[in-house]
This record gives sequence, structure tokens and C-alpha cells, in this order.
Amino acid sequence: MEEHMENIDGKEVNVKTANGDDDEQMKPSTTMCPKEGETPQASNSDFSHPVYKEIALANGHINRMSKEELRLKLSQLKLDTRGVKDVMKKRLKSHYKKQKLTQSAADSGPADLFYDYICVVDFEATCEEDNPPDFLHEIIEFPMVLISTHTLEIVGTFQEYVKPELYPTLSDFCVKLTGITQDKVDAAKPFPAVLKRVVKWLEERELGTKYKYTFLTDGAWDMSKFLNIQCRISQIRYPRFARKWINIRKSYGNFYKVPRTQTKLSTMLDKLGLQYEGRPHSGLDDSRNIARVALRMLQDGCQLRVNEHLHDGQLVSVPSWAPMDGAPPPRWPGTRK
Ligand code: AMP
Ligand code: MG
Repeated sequence: MEEHMENIDGKEVNVKTANGDDDEQMKPSTTMCPKEGETPQASNSDFSHPVYKEIALANGHINRMSKEELRLKLSQLKLDTRGVKDVMKKRLKSHYKKQKLTQSAADSGPADLFYDYICVVDFEATCEEDNPPDFLHEIIEFPMVLISTHTLEIVGTFQEYVKPELYPTLSDFCVKLTGITQDKVDAAKPFPAVLKRVVKWLEERELGTKYKYTFLTDGAWDMSKFLNIQCRISQIRYPRFARKWINIRKSYGNFYKVPRTQTKLSTMLDKLGLQYEGRPHSGLDDSRNIARVALRMLQDGCQLRVNEHLHDGQLVSVPSWAPMDGAPPPRWPGTRK
């Protein structure tokens, strides 16, 4: 029997002894926190509860299903039948896992949600064809797409263009890539003024005060490179509220068990059976499409959580066992001394 079992994250193992995931071995200590799709109550156990054996058996069974069987089962359960085989498998496993954990935690209460809102950001920046690694990118578009993890919908969007100050003239390559024309950035405010409006927009939605939230990006560069460089150019501190974020490529790779080479936005959409909507490299359209991937992952039972962090200007990975915390309330970061 045991060779067909899996741990709750989908690895074929002896369920009694192994609970690792792709990023980090889970530490069996009090710092352990909910994994993707778990109830917080269940996460405090050592996985010896019988529900985990049931989940492992179901996972083993799902692993042996053909693509057609998976599609049929998903359809009977009125679940989405799109996507490649691995995506369908993960969806079905998540469904059973959620169902079984919910049943078993029926009286100990709700929800495996941590953030109320997730704010997707995808900056566009000045560029040249084959920019060197030390190219001083300046942000030219600041878009945000806000997802409610409760209603699983996009509940708000923000978009402002930004006037670059070091090199105000866009290259032809940049205009062609992003679709952002010179007149748009000429008419825009410089970065500090736009950041003030971003802070106001987040504050108006009571993020970080009434509601828990965090940022989500496609890759690590938006925060660790573009925002980091821009803050230096604009002589302002890096904002505390943007220090941690969810890198969706990592979350997607871990959740659907695919290598990082398959986590480009176009590939993620494709594997989920979705098509890109809008214009690639428009910051707002990119953000909307990233949000669509995030929503599908939430629907498939993934508990998206912060996995990257900027510490002293350096990009650091946040392990899956680190305590969950939401972003602090948005604040104007102040100028650099
Ligand atoms: P993206 O989110 O993929 O649209 O990229 C964000 C930013 O990265 C763009 O606004 C450009 O500044 C830069 N970038 C993306 N693709 C390229 C490329 N092929 N060549 C040079 N810069 C690029
Ligand atoms: Mg983009």
C-alpha cells in the first residue's frame, strides 16, 4: 500500500515520516505554519492524524488516473477541467485534501486564508535592447491589481505612468516593447509623487490596518531590482510595506510541481488552459494576467504566501516554515539621508 501513498504535498513517500516540500524541509517545531490548503488547526499536528492517511491514499489513487479519468472526475465534481494533466491532478488532490481537512476540522473553525487581499504589481521600466546588468532602469508604469482572497475576484486596479528623471527620453526599443509612448511619460509625475498616490490608494482600502495584505509579483525583479533601483535614483528609502512579497513563479512551481523553467507567465497561463488577455509588457495587462494565474491557484487550493524578502538591499528567500505576517500599513518611506 505504502508505495502508492503521498505526503500531503504530493510526494510519493511514507506518510508517517516525511512531510517536506519543494523549498524547505518543514521543521517539526512550534514555528510550523499552515501549508498550501491546510487548515491552521491541522498544521499544528504532527501529521499522525488519520485524516492525513486518507489524503495520502486519495493522492496515490489520483496519481494512477489517466488524463481522461481526471477530466471526468473533475467534471463530476463540477471543477474546472482545463489545463495539463499535472494541473488537473493537483486540482483534484487539493479538492480532496480541502474537503477532508474541512470535514475533520468542522468544529474547530474556519478558513485557511491568511491574507484578505493580495496586491499584484508588475512594473514597466526604461530599457534598451540587451541592457547590461548594471543598467539604471527607471520605472515608467506603476500598476496594481487587487485580489480578494475571499471572493476570488479582482476588486480594484490602479495605473499611473511615471516620468523618468535621469533619462527622460524612451528608447524606440522600450516604446515598442511596452507600448508606453513618450507623450504618456512626459505627461506623468515623477516617481515620488506617484508613490504618494500609491500609498493613498492602499490606505483608502484599509490595507495593513483593517485587512491583511501582501504584494505578489511575477519573478523577483519587480521589487528587488526595479523598485530598489528607483528608490535610490529618487533618493527615497525603500518602502517597508514592499519589503516582502509572493513570487508567483516560485509558488506555482512548488504547487504544481513543475521546474522553474516552466514558470514564465505565458507558460503558466498556457498550462492552466488560459490565454493571455491584453497587450504583453503593458504593466496593467501583465498584472491582470498574473492575477488570473493567482486566482486559479487559490481556486485550486494553493495557499499563496510570502516567499521573498528584501533585506539590506539583498534578495532573500523566505522559507515556507517562517511565520506568516501581512505587509505593514502603507507609509511614505521618507527621503534618504
Ligand atoms: P515585463 O514585466 O516582462 O514586461 O518586463 C518588465 C521590464 O523589464 C520592461 O519594462 C523592461 O524594462 C524590461 N524588459 C523586459 N523584457 C525585456 C527585453 N527583452 N529586453 C530588455 N528589457 C526588457
Ligand atoms: Mg510587465
